[in-house]
Amino acid sequence: MADCVSPYSTVASGGTPGFVIAIGDRLVNIKDTINRWLPYEPVILIGGTAIIIHGIHYFASRIPRDGTVAGVKRTFFKAVKTIPFVRRQIAKEISKTKEEIEAGMADLFRGDKQEISFITKIPCDGLDRQDIINMVAEYLELGHYKWDEGAVSGTVYHGGKDLTELNAKVYQMSTWTNPLHPDVFPGVCKMESEIVRISADLFHGDSDTCGTVTSGGTESIILAVKAYRDYAMKERGILHPEILVPVTAHAAFDKAAMLLNIGIKHVPLVESSCTVDINAMRKMITKNTVMLVGSAPAFPHGCIDNMAAIAEMGVKYNIPVHTDACLGGFLLAFMPSAGFSIPDFDFKLRGITSISADTHKYGFAPKGSSVLLFSEKKFKHYQYFVTPDWPGGLYASPTLAGSRPGAIIAGCWATLMYFGMAGYIETTKKIVTTSRWIEQRLRKVPGVYVMGSPQVSVIALASKHFDIYRLQEALTKKGWSMNALQFPSSIHFCLTYCQTEPGVAERFVKDVETTVAEIMKDPNAPSTGQAAIYGTSQTVPDRSIITEITAIYMDALYETDFNSSCPQLANGSQTDNKVKKGSDKRGKGKKGTK
Ligand SMILES: *Cc1c(COP(=O)(O)O)cnc(C)c1O
Repeated sequence: MADCVSPYSTVASGGTPGFVIAIGDRLVNIKDTINRWLPYEPVILIGGTAIIIHGIHYFASRIPRDGTVAGVKRTFFKAVKTIPFVRRQIAKEISKTKEEIEAGMADLFRGDKQEISFITKIPCDGLDRQDIINMVAEYLELGHYKWDEGAVSGTVYHGGKDLTELNAKVYQMSTWTNPLHPDVFPGVCKMESEIVRISADLFHGDSDTCGTVTSGGTESIILAVKAYRDYAMKERGILHPEILVPVTAHAAFDKAAMLLNIGIKHVPLVESSCTVDINAMRKMITKNTVMLVGSAPAFPHGCIDNMAAIAEMGVKYNIPVHTDACLGGFLLAFMPSAGFSIPDFDFKLRGITSISADTHKYGFAPKGSSVLLFSEKKFKHYQYFVTPDWPGGLYASPTLAGSRPGAIIAGCWATLMYFGMAGYIETTKKIVTTSRWIEQRLRKVPGVYVMGSPQVSVIALASKHFDIYRLQEALTKKGWSMNALQFPSSIHFCLTYCQTEPGVAERFVKDVETTVAEIMKDPNAPSTGQAAIYGTSQTVPDRSIITEITAIYMDALYETDFNSSCPQLANGSQTDNKVKKGSDKRGKGKKGTK
């Protein structure tokens, strides 16, 4: 190597070219020189800076959309859960809970029968028509609440037997229709546009008001949020959109934010009125706010947010405002004519740019229909989906679904025609009068109080003296299905047309009175069963456990083999009475299906 003639005459060991070494030497020298003047080695300095910047970026990108506090909490509990002992303990509790949930679900599906069985394979030959009808009747008999006698809060928005028959006929006529094909089924499209126009009129829109019929309140809300997100991004250059909703706004807004990958901030309430704190909302507005929301009324306590004030902020800050009238829209629209004064909540207010109202609630339309209205087409256009380049054709759909049931639209249309203005005024009068009567009576029951000032059809109860879920549990035993609310602990009853039948409201109030009186004899008695579960679930700091348990519940809804999912149930090793009873019965029923 020594006599090798090369431009790199100072080649050293390893064959590294000399000039590289020379530069290397120089760099070392430079480094040494600089280092003499710096407290840290520059390499560390530069590298360190890079790592810190990367770190900040990493964590910033992981700040959860639901807020930093929630994120820190999550991280903390995630860390705690890595401790083996804690992890084992939690796993044990969750598996016990799973068994209880599945035992309860098995009971529900079993009904009055001795055994539980599921059809898990398609029948070899089609079944006899009458057999199918008998089976449907049998399936529909499951469940122990007498909803048709008014025992259930909300849930069933029944418009009377005559309407049921009309809708059955309409469904039969329109079973195969689909507004995705306007050229084939222009009739259902015409019905849809008439439903929209009628609703626009009811909510004081003008000729610019436009909208769509959707599959329900949740879809209406998702579409409104989507339209405003895209409007803000495209027309106003907002890159990190965020919506502001009252804490009492429907969970569909959280679902929308999650699906559409945007931020959502929850505005607190004024405690006394159970309506959104307008000043708090104003303070939470930022340059990223793309939508303000208020409910008329909100699901939990049935109170109407101050839409006039929210609309005014919308105008002032140039932010679209959505009124969620999903629940009560088709009562509010008729309340003035029925003799009840209500605050403005709809397009009468300048600044309200959209309204969602569920026809499948107090519109009494078949389940699966809601109306979303915009004040102007410029918003609605951002709701549309159009893809000009699909090989399957130029594809466009106004809502989330592709194909849609024309039969539901026809049923909704038929229902509006069936009631007419006079019919809805009548149903509204009955429902609101009954609600107010119940509210006045409940306000006199010692030991509980009515939350806020409900004006429509929902009455929420809480107590300063005892665990309110005990009242719910006791009423369940008397056949009433109430809704459990949380933060704070409370329950509500949402009146439908079913509760306007003679005697129902009286029976309900009487049952509440006697039950509360009973509980007040020993207000501090421990809560058990469902009551204990609801109370405890609010105090579990790690909300991810609640999420996990809820997933187990939803899995159980889809379970068709309760033996294999829960072997303890099958071999009867449980000591719990209810579970054991279930397992014995199930054991027999299973043989046929596996
Ligand atoms: C019912 C309801 C909705 C939407 O619920 P869906 O079950 O999707 O129809 C939205 N907001 C409020 C206030 C509601 O009560």
